[in-house]
Amino acid sequence: MTPIELRNELLANKVIKSLSTRHIDGYYCATSSEAINKVLTLMPKGSSVSWGGSMTIRDMGLIEALHKTESYTVFDRDLAQTPEEVQAIYRQAFGADFYLSSVNAMSEQGDIVNIDGNGNRVAAIAWGPKKVIFVVGINKIAKDLDAAVKRARGTAAPINTVRLNRDTPCTLDGVCHDCHSANSICNQIHIIRNSYDNGRFCVVIVGEELGY
Ligand code: SF4
Repeated sequence: MTPIELRNELLANKVIKSLSTRHIDGYYCATSSEAINKVLTLMPKGSSVSWGGSMTIRDMGLIEALHKTESYTVFDRDLAQTPEEVQAIYRQAFGADFYLSSVNAMSEQGDIVNIDGNGNRVAAIAWGPKKVIFVVGINKIAKDLDAAVKRARGTAAPINTVRLNRDTPCTLDGVCHDCHSANSICNQIHIIRNSYDNGRFCVVIVGEELGY
C-alpha cells in the first residue's frame, strides 16, 4: 500500500466513525470498481433505483453497471424523451427503494453538503426514497462544515456551471459571486447533520478523486 492509499483509508475510517455517531452507515472502497460492487451489494435485486445528477456516479461506471445487470427497476431521466417525461421521472424517484447521489462536499465530522439548482436532488435526499446511498470521492472530504460549504460553493458549483455552460457570473471567471441569477445552480443548499436511526443514509467513500 502506498502512503497515499494508506492516508486515504485512514481518513475514510475517521469519517466513517464520525458518520456512525450520526446514525449514518459508512464503508470504504479503495477503487471505483470495488465501490460499484459495494453499491450493488447494498441494493437487493428487484429493487427500484434512481439517482440525482452526479458526475461521480456516471464517470465511475455505476449507472452503466446498473443498466447492465438488468436486476433493478431504474428510473433514469437520461432516457426521457420529453421535458414532461423528465419531470415524471423526478417524481417517480421519490417512490424508489434506493436513491444514488454523490455529495458536493462533506466534513471530516460527517456533515454532508449538497447544492442544487432545480431542487429535485436535495428534495429526494431529504425525504422520499427509502434509502439514499452517497458515493463520495476522497477529494470531497473537507476539514469541517465551514470548509465543506466553502468547497461546495467555491469549487464544485463554479466547475458545474462551466460544465453546464450556465449564464452565471462564475462561468466567466470560475469564481462564485454569490449571485441571484435565474440560471444559478445554487438555489438550494442542503446539509445533513444527523439522521434518524433508521439506516436510511449510507456513504461509500472511494479512495480516488471522483467528480468535482
Ligand atoms: S456565482 Fe451564482 S451560480 Fe455561480 S457558484 Fe456562485 S451562486 Fe452559484
